[in-house]
Amino acid sequence: MQRTHIDGVPVFSADGPARTTASLVFGVGLRDETFATIEVTHLVEHLAMAALPRTHLRCTAVTDVDTTTFGATGRPEAVGAFLEGVCRALADLPTERLDVEVGVLQAESCSTPHATAAGLWAARFGLTGPGLVVAAGPGPEWLTEQTVRAHARRWFVRGNAALWVSGPVPPGLRLPLPPGPRPERPVPASRPQTGPVWTRAGRSGVGLLLTAGGAADPALTLGVEVLKERLRDTARLARGLSYCVDSLALDLSADRREVAVVVDARPGQEAEVAGLLWGACTSLADAGPSGAELAHAVDGFAEELDADERVVVESELADAAYCAVAGLPFRPVHDVLAAWRATGPERVAAALRATLPTAVLAVPEDCAYAGPGEPVVRRSVCAVQDRLPPGRTFRPSLLARLVSPGERVALVVGERELASRDPDGDVHAVPWERVEAALPGPDGRAVLVVGRDLCSVLVDDDRYGRGAVAAVRARVPADRWLPRPASRVDEPAEVALQAAVVPPADTVARL
Ligand SMILES: [Zn+2]
Repeated sequence: MQRTHIDGVPVFSADGPARTTASLVFGVGLRDETFATIEVTHLVEHLAMAALPRTHLRCTAVTDVDTTTFGATGRPEAVGAFLEGVCRALADLPTERLDVEVGVLQAESCSTPHATAAGLWAARFGLTGPGLVVAAGPGPEWLTEQTVRAHARRWFVRGNAALWVSGPVPPGLRLPLPPGPRPERPVPASRPQTGPVWTRAGRSGVGLLLTAGGAADPALTLGVEVLKERLRDTARLARGLSYCVDSLALDLSADRREVAVVVDARPGQEAEVAGLLWGACTSLADAGPSGAELAHAVDGFAEELDADERVVVESELADAAYCAVAGLPFRPVHDVLAAWRATGPERVAAALRATLPTAVLAVPEDCAYAGPGEPVVRRSVCAVQDRLPPGRTFRPSLLARLVSPGERVALVVGERELASRDPDGDVHAVPWERVEAALPGPDGRAVLVVGRDLCSVLVDDDRYGRGAVAAVRARVPADRWLPRPASRVDEPAEVALQAAVVPPADTVARL
């Protein structure tokens, strides 16, 4: 692997076939947005691609949780022209196309490939950082040209980019990105936790999230490999309860990694699978893997490295570029393999044991599951409580409450917080200083108040009587009250309000 610089951008390359495969990687993704700006990175990516001339080149662009990537395969000159075009477009986005691209995003259902992991991240972080992946956000039509340009100017800069090239580096390649340093990426605060917790999140799949130190320690990675293998043996092969066992590591900094193990489950079998997942994890943490299990994991890795040289080279190049933009130390795969070989069962057990106090076990919302028992405590995904705080109380009319059980709700605009009680008696509260965004409805008679702890409260004058929205508006910090987008949207108010009701443990719907 060679390492050079072009126009201030680090370039990792390796000789290969006559065709060039290249990827320009930026250290920005969903985790760098806020609830109000969800999809802004994706919109920047779309605008940049839309600015390029029509081509038959095989090219793609992907916005993920922590990176945005523009890639192409083809003749070296064509790939070079693509990369240069992307850089020029990012430096001056064709925002005259904003409305069109917003429409494209609205049509493209942005379902996340990591639905189970998203629920786990939200349980860990609430509506910040990777936790944002769980939310749909207000919708791209709420993004202004100013917001989009500011996002591009901050993140799509020389200091936050890296390129990897497999095959010939395009002759005379230029990467004319705007100058700028790699922005600081704060690690979001975790919800306080003193031991393992379990929660209900999402619609399907069972997951386990563990907080670890940096990527450098192979013991936890190995432990997770063995854990997945045990689950394949029990949940899949022996009992036919699930099909797919996977893991996903997210490096939030050089010494902070979140590892998610996700297992799909046959409908109705989620509780069973959650029990197997927790049981396998704790028994590994307790007694460690067997020698045979460790050897199997190490051999599997060695075989992967042996299989297809091109694939290995390209994944290593991609890893080097990723580490450069993420500020992580890069380690060649053969070093990693050597470290795996040198790791014994005691260290694997110790690494798993050390992460157990951070464990979040998640089952789907509607799953009949009582948790694994002591010492794992139940955590509600949002900050649900059982009584309304003091404050000015609003209720639907007496008639509405008598006729319809769904109207037996209440809203409190208090000194310290906004709260609503749903028909089941659960109270969802948003302290004023924890308001992430307030999204007014089309006619000003409703507002959805979204809290950082995943509670949200729909305030609707038509339901609670006049004055409720005004009372809330007087309390919400002014910079949290989002201006409605220019009236591109003409849906009737009732439809918007219906969609705004937010199931606490799930995707935050659009207003
Ligand atoms: Zn809540």
